[in-house]
Amino acid sequence: MTKITISVCKVYRNTGRFRFHRKNTKKAWKHYYLEEDEPDEWKFNTEWVDSIKAQFLKLKKRHKRMCICLNCGRIFYAYIKNEREEVNCPICPDDEDE
Ligand SMILES: [Zn+2]
Repeated sequence: MTKITISVCKVYRNTGRFRFHRKNTKKAWKHYYLEEDEPDEWKFNTEWVDSIKAQFLKLKKRHKRMCICLNCGRIFYAYIKNEREEVNCPICPDDEDE
């Protein structure tokens, strides 16, 4: 199963939304990612990770980039590892001959 890391953050474990954290609560790493359930179906998920895994995930983190296909003019989003990575249009067929 493919996972795409969106973000790795250090957050307080015991805080609810809109509440101040209690004393003695520890910060822990939370991994925000997309998981491919079925081909082209991405589900947002989170999980707690230890600090070693968090550092590893940070290196793998991808960036969301908006792309415009010069061929069909469609705008789509792709997750890339670095700015130079080439992204194929999800709509246009791979080979140009057809
Ligand atoms: Zn296209």
